[in-house]
Amino acid sequence: VVETPLRLARTREELAEALGSLRAEGRALALVPTMGSLHSGHLSLVELAGGLADRVAVSVFVNPLQFGPGEDLSRYPRSLEADVERARDRGAWLVFAPPEEEMYPGGPPVVRVVPGALGERLCGARRPGHFQGVLTVVARLFGLFRPEVAVFGRKDFQQAVLVRRMVRDLEMGVRIAVGPLVREADGLAMSSRNAYLNPEERRMAPDLFRALQAADEAFRGGERRGAALAAIVRERVEGHPIFRLQYAEAVDPDTLDPVGEAKVGDVLAVAAFVGGTRLIDNVVLGSAQADPTGP
Ligand code: AMP
Repeated sequence: VVETPLRLARTREELAEALGSLRAEGRALALVPTMGSLHSGHLSLVELAGGLADRVAVSVFVNPLQFGPGEDLSRYPRSLEADVERARDRGAWLVFAPPEEEMYPGGPPVVRVVPGALGERLCGARRPGHFQGVLTVVARLFGLFRPEVAVFGRKDFQQAVLVRRMVRDLEMGVRIAVGPLVREADGLAMSSRNAYLNPEERRMAPDLFRALQAADEAFRGGERRGAALAAIVRERVEGHPIFRLQYAEAVDPDTLDPVGEAKVGDVLAVAAFVGGTRLIDNVVLGSAQADPTGP
């Protein structure tokens, strides 16, 4: 293993300089956009990215545009030093961690990316403006990095669908790869927000995934009605002591339309609050390959 020194860029100028030397060497770049607090889910994307390009860059930016009023922007966990070490251990070449005034030098961008109908379903219906904020920062990151490939996680399934669609609709010329959803040993989808859970909530939180698994088992057992599959999740979550259900839906992975008749590859997605913490999870119905657990 070759120890590569990791570059930390805090400004656009430092980033441009690093990218200049990369381009001079003719190397292909993979970008992994994150909000930091890196865990094994993020790091699996860094590894995946390493197999798709010569160099991997990780951006760490808690993007105010994608947080609604009353959401957790100010308390979102931040741990840049540890993030840099973790990214380096997984072979990243650069971490770009700009302060807000570097990311948005003229203030919040005036022109934004409109997600359209795909952004109005699932999480988009409950978090107005969220996906506009996500796509706008991703577009800006693509402009800053000009990566050959960018890697996203299936944990944020709707986000991955929207990014792919943006790149296609706006001809952005970036290849999009989507990595599997990484779980804790007890099944809970890894998330920076899991840090908000108290011990009791943390102990029970994997029940969200169990509800999805119960529906997936029903699917494997022959249940094909999308509404019935969603109802299995809904009942388990609504009847649970710690969850407040936001939605449970079986959707087509391209259109995000609720499916009448579910087929292998459709996605069962759920969002629920645990106290003030919003958790999301999803499974691909009937998919042969289990998601990896970490770390
Ligand atoms: P975030 O820092 O939450 O904005 O996430 C940055 C990227 O990591 C997104 O593409 C997420 O989908 C991905 N990600 C977050 N958690 C996981 C996970 N448990 N498994 C796989 N990818 C993840």
